[in-house]
Amino acid sequence: MTPEEIIGHLDRLYPDARCELDHRNDYEMAVAVILSAQTTDASVNRVTPGLFERFPDPASLAAADQQEVEELISSLGLYRNKARSIIGFAKGVTERFEGRVPASMDELVSLPGVGRKCANVILAECHGIPSLAVDTHVSRVSKRLGLAYAKDTVDVIERKLCRKIPRERWIRTHHQMIFFGRYLCHARNPKCIRCPFVKICHEKKKNLKIGGLTAV
Ligand code: SF4
Repeated sequence: MTPEEIIGHLDRLYPDARCELDHRNDYEMAVAVILSAQTTDASVNRVTPGLFERFPDPASLAAADQQEVEELISSLGLYRNKARSIIGFAKGVTERFEGRVPASMDELVSLPGVGRKCANVILAECHGIPSLAVDTHVSRVSKRLGLAYAKDTVDVIERKLCRKIPRERWIRTHHQMIFFGRYLCHARNPKCIRCPFVKICHEKKKNLKIGGLTAV
């Protein structure tokens, strides 16, 4: 199956795929992305209303007491590190970028809490700049669909996807791959019986039999 055919199936499966982190502006989007490391978007969406009510902009979060921020996000894993990161991010944005979330990879990764994956999401969601963040879903799905090798690092996977997928499709395909990984191609017990990729899947030997049914 060609990358174009994979894209076609993803379009049919998830025509409305989008970022599921709740946000009202670039500041909220960027903070939500930092908080989403190693946790679900749903978990982040439960804490951000209270966080953004108390700290509605980068300047207020930059001046925050770390313990108060920790309490507001304490239901998230790694909440102490994340509190430190978002305060540092807000300080950087306030002091170096006049309160605006920067729009370049180099500037973004210079800020606390922002790695390449986060920066790619921020570029796409805040600025509409084509980018393709490789998170756990995108990594797993890429390998199962043969778009990357099992041992490829996230940087290698990103480069391969960017070569195989047209640039104008990067943001949309990124969301569709996340939806596919989140709702169908789970890490454990994927719903292979409903999958249009079962004939090319590198995992199919493990997952073909579901409830006594065979997926091909
Ligand atoms: S066949 Fe199963 S494991 Fe393979 S891509 Fe489809 S859902 Fe994922």
